[in-house]
Amino acid sequence: MDKQINEITIVGGGTAGWLAAAFLVRFMNLRNEEKPTKITLIESPNVPTIGVGEATVPTMPALLQSLGISEKEFFIRCNASFKLGVRFSNWNHDENGNSTSFIHPFDAIATQLGGQNPAYHFNKYGGPPGRENIDDCMAVSGAAIAAKVGPKLLSHGDYERKLNYAYHLDAGKFAEFLREVSIERGVNHVLDDVEEVEQDERGFITALKLQRQGRRPVELVIDCTGFKGVIINQVLGVPFRDYSKYLLNNRALAVQIPHRDVRQIEPCTNSTALGAGWVWRVPLYNRIGTGYVFSSHFRSDDEAKEEFIAHLGEDGKGADPRVIPVRIGRMEKAWEKNCIAIGLSAGFIEPLESTAIYMIENFVKLILINFPDKTFAPALARRFNETTEKMMQAIRDFIILHYCTNNRTDSDYWRTAREEMEIPDSVEAVLEEYRHTLPVNTEFDGVYLFNYFSYNTVLFSKGYLNGIHYPAERFISRQDWDQRMADFIKYEQRQLSGLPNHYELLRHMRGET
Ligand code: FAD
Repeated sequence: MDKQINEITIVGGGTAGWLAAAFLVRFMNLRNEEKPTKITLIESPNVPTIGVGEATVPTMPALLQSLGISEKEFFIRCNASFKLGVRFSNWNHDENGNSTSFIHPFDAIATQLGGQNPAYHFNKYGGPPGRENIDDCMAVSGAAIAAKVGPKLLSHGDYERKLNYAYHLDAGKFAEFLREVSIERGVNHVLDDVEEVEQDERGFITALKLQRQGRRPVELVIDCTGFKGVIINQVLGVPFRDYSKYLLNNRALAVQIPHRDVRQIEPCTNSTALGAGWVWRVPLYNRIGTGYVFSSHFRSDDEAKEEFIAHLGEDGKGADPRVIPVRIGRMEKAWEKNCIAIGLSAGFIEPLESTAIYMIENFVKLILINFPDKTFAPALARRFNETTEKMMQAIRDFIILHYCTNNRTDSDYWRTAREEMEIPDSVEAVLEEYRHTLPVNTEFDGVYLFNYFSYNTVLFSKGYLNGIHYPAERFISRQDWDQRMADFIKYEQRQLSGLPNHYELLRHMRGET
């Protein structure tokens, strides 16, 4: 028997399906030109895509590059803008009950200082005036966001990158763009609905029955059918690991609003806490995407709409947000038999740190690394499932950190999020460690997106470490810290110098100037 898998069938044409298709066609066919693997994507003409998912993390520029997609073209096609970090506002309050805010930056430069983690210096001596948050002492992103600059120099060739960045993008246009690229590179596109699934005696999927085109044999199926999980969930019955005991939110409102003045477009995502959740604000070139992620235990849809529209003020006049129920958790196994789930079908942790597209990217890479033949060696699925579980848990933990360290006393939602939700042992362990040490990178290396600097930013900025002094602080000196801050401020000036206004950079890249 020919053991080689000759066709991959992707079901679902949202961001997950088309990103998987674009990635696989780029890296499989190139390497095996004699007998290229056939890639087919089946997409329902009736079931709409989720239509949200517009903020990303800094792995995205390298992803586009590896896909051979021109960044300039991407900016034009997807009305993209630059994202240098996330501003969190109103998640915590100061001693007077006023909202505080901080930036989760993408451009942290913290390195050892005299053999020691500089976070110790920050904890002991604090930042210089005007730099009260840790990110203003160790990352350039906050200053760049405040100045509304883009991360690259203007030029007519390659735009030289000076700061680390991610993108904001139009989800619908991104999927369309990837579809075009994938089809051009050889992906076979079928518009049809999967109605039934045929299985052999072991439960492996042998064929899909399509509404219009009938029976279609399959070898390896990638389920990208969104929250429904048409195959992984509905056919294979893989259990869902619900995260609702840790995270309260289970609904979202989403709407698009115009810019008041696009010339003021911010190079960051905003996450602003309201009474029963938080609002994202993602500025694209042509419009703003915004939405309220909330808990139905604390707000009905109508109450949430009212609160959200009031928050939007003038900008929300006439807006009619749609309601999106969200399922927070993950499939116990993303790979079961000859089916691998990617995207919302594999799981979703709320969009607080814009990690879903990043997870799609990593799941696809792991498929390539652990590519099976028709024997489907169980070790491959086991490895894939263990790694993806770790990745999702690491993201879940970081999201939980934002909630369990809130100090708001003005709403039942925030009190519940802090005091009544379960905290996984892995998060308890990190919180316990941080009471005694400020770890450096090695602890969070590996498959994890969020490293020690992200943890430092959240824990310091939310005041969680207030009043703690560490034994290791006895080895550090004020002089070293003052010198470092002086060097950092010079570095920041150097990095920002010459950077164009964000809007100007976007216009330049779009060829509009
Ligand atoms: P979908 O977009 O739902 O696509 C499902 C596809 O399956 C569709 O093409 C549909 O037609 C097809 N399909 C369904 N049933 C069948 C069938 N029987 N036969 C054939 N085809 C079928 N991610 C980020 O990275 N950043 C963010 O800022 C972010 N924000 C988000 C905010 C919210 C409120 C939500 C809910 C999600 C957010 N996400 C975000 C996640 C992101 O939207 C998704 O991960 C991404 O869009 C991928 O979705 P998908 O392709 O898995 O599913």
